[in-house]
Amino acid sequence: MEEKALKILEILKKEYPKYNKPVSTYFQDTTNNSFKVLISTILSPRAKDSQTEKVSKALFEIADTPEQIVKLKEEQLEKIVYSIGFYKVKSKRVKQACLYLIKYHKSEVPKSLEELTKIPGVGRKVANIILAECFNIPAIAVDTHVMTISIRLGFVKKRTPLKVEKALMNLFPSNKWKEINKVLVAHGQNICTPLYPKCSVCPIYSYCPRNGVNKHR
Ligand code: SF4
Repeated sequence: MEEKALKILEILKKEYPKYNKPVSTYFQDTTNNSFKVLISTILSPRAKDSQTEKVSKALFEIADTPEQIVKLKEEQLEKIVYSIGFYKVKSKRVKQACLYLIKYHKSEVPKSLEELTKIPGVGRKVANIILAECFNIPAIAVDTHVMTISIRLGFVKKRTPLKVEKALMNLFPSNKWKEINKVLVAHGQNICTPLYPKCSVCPIYSYCPRNGVNKHR
């Protein structure tokens, strides 16, 4: 299984440059600023990456440090964030995260899973994205795409993010962990979509048992 999993990862990695980058990768590559990566990742749930990128850029034009963001008026922040949905919750999370960084980390983004997950609005998935993207620390962020594709490919049977994360950590050597989220998210957004995956054009079709897939294109 390990050999097959590595082959699959290698094939998907070659496909990855065809697709748009996740918003966290975009901000890491263009700014090398872990605070911007963190804030854009907190803003990203249930929003399209393109929209999160637009809104995050609009925010960073006005305020791009924890101190500047906490000074924004509630209505001002909500207005900027409005178009990505859940704007009240997301604005609150952004402000709480900034206050926490100012109070406990001298406005710096911490570099450990334990410290990251103490930040309001930051769960294990976001923390693992930050570790991998910003600090080059081996970590696997498990979202819905990573979970669904891992099950379809027969990598895992478990259906909780933590169990999937642990199973993938056992399956892949640690020097591959950082790639897994990126390539599986790109594959999930474009080919192995949650509903009706595009199996007929899938580059890893011959390696995939298609577990749990009833209808596909
Ligand atoms: S063959 Fe189908 S189910 Fe398997 S990875 Fe490709 S798109 Fe997904």
